[in-house]
Amino acid sequence: MGLLEGKKALIFGVANDKSIAWATAEAMHREGAEIALAYAGEAVAKRVAPLAEKLDCKLVLPCDVRSDEELSRLFGEIREAWGGLDILVHSVAFANKEELKGSFLNTTREGFQTALDISTYSLIAMAREAAPLMQGRDGSIVAMTYYGAQKVFPSYNVMGVAKAALEATVRYLAEAMGPEGTRVNGVSAGPLRTLASAGIGGFGQIAGHVADKAPLRRNISQEEVGNAVLYLASPLASGVTGEIHFVDCGYNIIGM
Ligand code: NAD
Repeated sequence: MGLLEGKKALIFGVANDKSIAWATAEAMHREGAEIALAYAGEAVAKRVAPLAEKLDCKLVLPCDVRSDEELSRLFGEIREAWGGLDILVHSVAFANKEELKGSFLNTTREGFQTALDISTYSLIAMAREAAPLMQGRDGSIVAMTYYGAQKVFPSYNVMGVAKAALEATVRYLAEAMGPEGTRVNGVSAGPLRTLASAGIGGFGQIAGHVADKAPLRRNISQEEVGNAVLYLASPLASGVTGEIHFVDCGYNIIGM
């Protein structure tokens, strides 16, 4: 029997087959979960549809996470179809391209608000919608983060601030939702080539450095991240909440 047999999982953030959300969906499907995918909108719909079919997803729904109305409609559809929810995966981030190059000093007010709204606040908005659906079901929420939350990386700029706020949000949500039995954790993934990372000016430099310096002397794979999210979402992690779990070939332990 699979680790997630009988569980219902809603996953935000599949844009294509390189997305961390996709590797997560595949891992959860393999372990028996029923999957619903929420995608950003028309621009990615064509790429998401054939992927959803591979996992036999009946619920493949558009949702721009900037909109409370769209989030509320989406969770309403989940309630109607499933009656509840066991797992929520937040694998969504965005910053304007101009913010992800050059000096952090040039971060604009509007660029800051956009990055924090889409990449951070959305987790709070999702968690609030998910809370009543997860009641009494040992729910688990997992959000994707990056080491740039804690240390400075070239060009990561405002996204580092958004991830720092996301990691604090994981802890505050863990406290707020713990009494109902819902766990909230983050996975801090090493650099991976995806649509999101293509927008980061220093990405190639970061990925090369990690492969040289990490204890395992390589970069991670999407599958390794998907499996770690699977673990945190599963009963194997029933005593784990409020944690940021690194999946980075050990890079974060290195001082020099
Ligand atoms: P990705 O581009 O495949 O995923 C990002 C997703 O965010 C896309 O599906 C995109 O459609 C979605 N999105 C953006 N704006 C949205 C909006 N307004 N409404 C709804 N969805 C929206 O890239 P990814 O690398 O798989 O990123 C997933 C998560 O993993 C992000 O939080 C990212 O910061 C994090 N992460 C990525 C890396 C990496 O190196 N790729 C490393 C650590 C953490």
